[in-house]
Amino acid sequence: MASQNLLLLPGDGIGPEIMEEVKKVIAWFNAHGGTDFSTEDGLVGGSAYDAHGQSISEDDMSKAMAADAVIFGAVGGPKWDTVPYEVRPEAGLLRLRKDMELFANLRPAICYPALADASSLKKDVIEGLDILIVRELTGGVYFGEPKEIVDLGNGQKRGIDTQVYDTYEIERISKVAFELARTRNNKVTSMEKRNVMKSGVLWNEVVTQTHKNGYEDVTLEHMLADAGGMQLVRWPKQFDVIVTDNLFGDMLSDVAAMLTGSLGMLPSASLGAPDAKTGKRKALYEPVHGSAPDIAGTGAANPIAMIASFGMALRYSFELVEAADLLDKAIANTLDKGLRTKDIAAQGGATVTTVEIGDAIVAELGALAG
Ligand code: NAD
Repeated sequence: MASQNLLLLPGDGIGPEIMEEVKKVIAWFNAHGGTDFSTEDGLVGGSAYDAHGQSISEDDMSKAMAADAVIFGAVGGPKWDTVPYEVRPEAGLLRLRKDMELFANLRPAICYPALADASSLKKDVIEGLDILIVRELTGGVYFGEPKEIVDLGNGQKRGIDTQVYDTYEIERISKVAFELARTRNNKVTSMEKRNVMKSGVLWNEVVTQTHKNGYEDVTLEHMLADAGGMQLVRWPKQFDVIVTDNLFGDMLSDVAAMLTGSLGMLPSASLGAPDAKTGKRKALYEPVHGSAPDIAGTGAANPIAMIASFGMALRYSFELVEAADLLDKAIANTLDKGLRTKDIAAQGGATVTTVEIGDAIVAELGALAG
């Protein structure tokens, strides 16, 4: 395999601790899995502010633009609560998302068998669950103009947000969903509110048309987003890939994520458009959780969301499906053996450290590859 360049941006708080565990996994794949990843380290968030007075330097930004994938930890913490707004830690992540034009956010909800009892839903509803929410990330009501609070002059104010989508935005996110479905169980459920929203009518039309233009081998169904929310908690296994807009995706992906457990278990990916020459998408992989300053430096951080985010890079940036499956199995086996960081341990149950989980996953990779 040709050499692939990863930019590692550990960030702040527990970010560097969990990134160390990913480095072990990358080293294992390079030594035993036939990959040739080269890595560079960069700074983002508060750590970049301390070093450069910016939440990400221009040099690291250029490296991110050139990388085959960016592996991102987490940013923020009380130390930087008072820094100027434009250079706050989160600004580094927002700049990466904007400049890399990462319009598709992917959040899997996978239920590891060993954690099925920890869900708030019944075991048979979530055991074996494996769904993927594809959320549009750069359009819709979070960005539409006008966006303002207007003083009406009569003691009243009016808050305005604008839900707006153009054809091309809906088309490109549906293509991502159809293409991903082909690598999974070949089904896409599109969710909107066409019964009350014009943007929902257009969403439905464009997804249907895109499906007709080259994706008819994939099963497509439409569902109103509110009904989709109900179905997600009633019988989530009916879904494979769900595609939806920025606002509904924000809520539905949180619902889906919590079906399966702790924040420390949830990976994510954000993808851009395919490059005109190479066909390769810009991509950033990160855990859903933040920098957890309350536990930073204590060895209590769960590295699984971070390691599973690298697993998503194997799957979606490098098409190394077998390697990604192997890593998922190594995580599942580690959990099966009862190893738990505090966030996923039963009350009063034994716990292990960040490093012990990372080492156990690497040992499982070795055992599985045999
Ligand atoms: P958080 O996700 O950092 O933590 C919430 C709770 O979950 C904490 O109790 C934490 O200890 C726990 N937790 C989170 N990840 C864990 C892990 N891997 N293992 C074990 N426990 C874990 O959210 P927060 O406390 O609201 O925010 C803390 C900082 O992170 C803030 O500065 C916030 O702005 C930032 N943040 C960053 C991102 C990001 O970088 N993408 C996302 C969310 C929050």
